[in-house]
Amino acid sequence: RLRDDGVSMTVVFINLDGFQPINDSMGVQSGDHLLKKTAERLQATVERPGAVGRYGGDEFIVVYVGTTDDDGEKLAITLKSAIRQPYLIAQTEIHLTASVGVTYLNAGEDGDPIAQAEFAMRRAKQLGGNICCRYTFDMHERYVYQAWLRNKLQLAIDNHQLTVYYQPIIATATERCIAVEALVRWQHKGRFISPGEFIPIAEKTGQIIPLGELVLNQVLRDLAHNSDLRALSVSVNVSSQQLQRYQFPELLAQLLRDTQVAAEAITLELTEGVLVDQSNQNLQALQKLQEMHCTIAIDDFGTGFSSLSYLSQIPAKVIKLDRSFIVDMEHDPERLELVRTIISMCHALGRIVVAEGVETQEQVTILRSLNVDRMQGFYFARPMPLKELLNYLRQ
Ligand code: C2E
Ligand code: CA
Ligand code: CA
Ligand code: CA
Repeated sequence: RLRDDGVSMTVVFINLDGFQPINDSMGVQSGDHLLKKTAERLQATVERPGAVGRYGGDEFIVVYVGTTDDDGEKLAITLKSAIRQPYLIAQTEIHLTASVGVTYLNAGEDGDPIAQAEFAMRRAKQLGGNICCRYTFDMHERYVYQAWLRNKLQLAIDNHQLTVYYQPIIATATERCIAVEALVRWQHKGRFISPGEFIPIAEKTGQIIPLGELVLNQVLRDLAHNSDLRALSVSVNVSSQQLQRYQFPELLAQLLRDTQVAAEAITLELTEGVLVDQSNQNLQALQKLQEMHCTIAIDDFGTGFSSLSYLSQIPAKVIKLDRSFIVDMEHDPERLELVRTIISMCHALGRIVVAEGVETQEQVTILRSLNVDRMQGFYFARPMPLKELLNYLRQ
């Protein structure tokens, strides 16, 4: 804590982008040299009463006292520019950039300026680096909320407080439910926290691994105990981390054996990224899953980077057209044309097309005329607990 003397202050937090001890020919020593030079430059740039400190390997803090609110960003930008000047080391010009965070505290204002400047630096880093960000209260709130969410999610995982809901997927031809998608649900003190909020966090922290296992366990138990469910195909979302680590195909095979559920009952929904990134590991895992007779589906198709021409190489039987194509399709002829093209191309390649996020009768009519195979969305049914689903299936 720096707040003891009732002065206003600006704190600048600097983190070098992509910094590594310079390449082998120059050795680690050059890296240290570079860091020392950076510290000297920062020191030379500081004109006002200020102090430069090394914070970690390639992190520096500059503290200015007696500044005004307006000064902060200017000072930070001056420091950032000082780093941009090329460095000359062993006759080689080296270019560095930095992610810079800055915060200003009034005299007597409470707060932890170093932590604040660090939050702001992280944001600068997230935005791609070589940029200066100013701390705002919003930023802090989001950070605190995410940290809270992460801790609560861990408790929820440990205490098995996550559940699985199922959303029907309808066959266009018969209008009957032909499959369901398992979607994780987290009820915290009576309020549902959206997967849109906690899945990205779980991906970042690695909690997606135990979370995914929990979901898979639940789905297989539900399948084992309900023949009505076994008559359908049950989709499970699998994150790329799950696929790449912890021998996912073996884990699934074991679970299938334990519960005596046929692999044919399971569809694994993977995002485009996983399928396009044909690294050995991914490819091997996918091959194994197909040999086991699991169905592979591409989730959120059309949002990733893969081009249509890539479709033929992607080893997935089911293509799930992302909701963003369906929203507003009735008012956007170009989008409609795109959907038509994707569907006919998928059909030419022998794939099954599912439209996600179908909400209106109009969309149903259009999708039917485009020969989409399956539809999923609030128009037909929302995700629901197993019990409700079983009632729904009996109707
Ligand atoms: P997703 O895989 O694309 O799942 C479909 C999402 O769209 C679900 O949101 C579903 O409730 C919602 N949805 C379905 N029909 C409609 C509709 O007509 N209109 C609108 N506006 N939305 C509709 P949910 O359950 O909030 O899940 C969000 C995302 O979180 C999922 O997107 C998926 O990426 C992820 N997720 C959910 N459960 C799991 C899980 O068990 N494991 C993993 N790895 N990810 C999961
Ligand atoms: Ca760095
Ligand atoms: Ca999905
Ligand atoms: Ca989706």
